[in-house]
Amino acid sequence: MKILISDAFDASLPDRLKKFGDVTDDKSQLADANVVLIRSKTKANKEYIDSAPNLKLIIRGGVGLDNVDQDYAKEKGIEVHNTPEASSVAVAELAFALMISVPNRLIEAHSTMKEGRWEKKALKRTELMGKTLGLIGVGRIGTVLANRARAFGMHVVGYDKFVTYSDLVELKTLDEVLEAADYISLHVPLNSDTEGLINKETIGKMKDGVVVINTGRGLCVNAADMVDALKSGKVARYATDVWPSDPPPDDYSVLSAPNVTMTPHIGASTKENLLRIGDQVVEIIENFKG
Ligand code: NAD
Repeated sequence: MKILISDAFDASLPDRLKKFGDVTDDKSQLADANVVLIRSKTKANKEYIDSAPNLKLIIRGGVGLDNVDQDYAKEKGIEVHNTPEASSVAVAELAFALMISVPNRLIEAHSTMKEGRWEKKALKRTELMGKTLGLIGVGRIGTVLANRARAFGMHVVGYDKFVTYSDLVELKTLDEVLEAADYISLHVPLNSDTEGLINKETIGKMKDGVVVINTGRGLCVNAADMVDALKSGKVARYATDVWPSDPPPDDYSVLSAPNVTMTPHIGASTKENLLRIGDQVVEIIENFKG
């Protein structure tokens, strides 16, 4: 079995996979590969799959499968797996970090001090306690975040198209969540329903001065509408880890908009998570019957 590690995984993984066969990170060997390991960088689209005539198994280390043409893979008899459970804590902790940095004014405090300014008076903080967090998507990551937010005394409401019960989250309609929340955090997959879900109309239903956190997918937010809302102050801050592409084009409007906190798609990139993803990859290959 030839295994191609196409994206960044834990450094110990190649050694752990050697028991299954030949392991390489040389992408020019795609045509010979029986298994490819990808994260978000590699796009396993039709063209990619056509370049891999010996491929039997694609493993996406991570949650979303929007970078894999699953229908085409199926047509070609290729199994597709992901590692959905591994990343929840890593992503939820980043979402929480982005959220708590806002009322604590961490970005402005750090940047102004770096500029030699002492803005003690201007930098008034607020607290998360007593505020409402609205989750869009109450799956694995949303639920881990809800748990942390509740520990900080937040009230947690959420909208999910399919989830009908939660111990931790008061489930509501999308409109009710948009209207109630001081902080809105996105945890839905990217699909035809969720692309551009945050747009002029949905932003219009939010509280003035709302904070939007996005560790879901960049395209769930309409960039032009978000930039308008940031400029008008309707959205006080947009904190995002996710982009239309990795990296986004230089002229992507969110990059130069005011009151944006940005991270370069590092939600899943904790050391601990990469080890967990490695464990799941080994398990998937062990159970692979092809
Ligand atoms: P999950 O499948 O456990 O939860 C997603 C939830 O969204 C589900 O409960 C589902 O019912 C709900 N949902 C689907 N379509 C919906 C719609 N149209 N409207 C409302 N709810 C809808 O997935 P998860 O593990 O919580 O991950 C959520 C998303 O986070 C992933 O799909 C991925 O896009 C993103 N993610 C980002 C990073 C990162 O590095 N920033 C890492 C991992 C995952």
